[in-house]
Amino acid sequence: MLENVVEFFKNLPEKTCVQCGKKLEEQSECYSHSCEHCNNH
Ligand SMILES: [Zn+2]
Repeated sequence: MLENVVEFFKNLPEKTCVQCGKKLEEQSECYSHSCEHCNNH
């Protein structure tokens, strides 16, 4: 079960910040589509 979840996240496309275009390394669900820097604004 856990391995399936890992594979799922591995197959996700790279997320980039919609505001500055920075690649998002975090795969946290709490982040929408912006990097931590832009979220703090
Ligand atoms: Zn950003």
